Amino acid sequence: MEEGFSAHQLSPSSWNRYEDCPRKYWLSRQRLPRKASMPAAMGTAVHNSVEDLCNLDISDREDSEDGWLPPTSKAVLDRHWALERDIFLGTPRHPRWKDEMITKAHDGLVGALNILFSKANIGKVGLSEVTVGQWKQVQDIVLANEGTLVSECGRLMGRLDLLIADLDENGESKGWIVADLKTGNPPKLKLNEKVSRQLRFYRDLLIQINPDHPQVHAEGWYSSNQTVHRADGPSVLDDAFAAWDGMRPSEEPLEATPGEVQCGFCEWKAWCPVWWSARRDGILSPGSMFRDEVVRAIKFDPESGAALFERMPPVGVDGELAHSDHRFGAILRDQALDQMRELMDSGYEEAIFLGSVRVDGKIVHLGDWCEVLPWTPLLKSVRE
Ligand code: SF4
Repeated sequence: MEEGFSAHQLSPSSWNRYEDCPRKYWLSRQRLPRKASMPAAMGTAVHNSVEDLCNLDISDREDSEDGWLPPTSKAVLDRHWALERDIFLGTPRHPRWKDEMITKAHDGLVGALNILFSKANIGKVGLSEVTVGQWKQVQDIVLANEGTLVSECGRLMGRLDLLIADLDENGESKGWIVADLKTGNPPKLKLNEKVSRQLRFYRDLLIQINPDHPQVHAEGWYSSNQTVHRADGPSVLDDAFAAWDGMRPSEEPLEATPGEVQCGFCEWKAWCPVWWSARRDGILSPGSMFRDEVVRAIKFDPESGAALFERMPPVGVDGELAHSDHRFGAILRDQALDQMRELMDSGYEEAIFLGSVRVDGKIVHLGDWCEVLPWTPLLKSVRE
């Protein structure tokens, strides 16, 4: 690894963030309080369950035994579900934990196992019919799972879900498949550019560090409808190195590129002044049903959760705010109410960021889906 170059590494997710908006990437590196997400927690529970099942030691079991996979996979998933719930609830910023989503996680796990059966030439089979012998067959094609790939120079890294043997119809391996398990929405026709690039990134990294590799291709496995999408195309490593160069740690914030898509799901808005001025300038629309606001509290009743807010329009582009005549009422409940109470109890009197309020006529509603955070535009790196 080159001396002095290990300070930052590009991974597919940090690359995407950087490409979405360099400021979003920069903020994500400032050790600000993280936000947990339910889809991510579900995805991790499914990934880790697949990994555990692939690593399961069944060497001393009879090959003919069946009926074992449904209870085993349920126990494995239950364990990971509980672990993810603890991590989720321990993350400083988190919405409501939706325990009912375990059903979706279970379906995702079954979907992933079905793809593995087809890759091991077992074909369609009900989970309860799968024998220990058949599962050993699956384990045989798994060459690696959850491996970390790092480029020779140390600048690029990625976590590979599964590396499996690409079997022909006679069960002979004709190469490797780099597989990434996806628990999100499957593509309608073909993989979107970002997912394709991520898959090719794993492929290209694997090729770079395994000079004697056989034929390799990358696939996205969508567990929800059990479809497999192959990512073909030229190497992405040159582009990755170019992006890595722009992602160097810096004292000054990186450029912000506000837009509906990137700002829509950005978790760093309370620390970014740019989206708020972009809204003033008409670059971003205010949103109809759900919107973000920067306000100060005029009145707040901690008992009932009723509040009156004053919108604070931006002055300039660095997060400075002005007063305005625009006032609106709000009803706060659940998590939003707890956060507001905490903020008010601490004596906070400055501006507040309201994330994702639901507009209902002249008043807005805040609940578990919202965030109430101090407005803290960050204009210098807090990393030492
Ligand atoms: S809110 Fe928008 S402009 Fe600001 S960091 Fe996030 S994506 Fe970039």
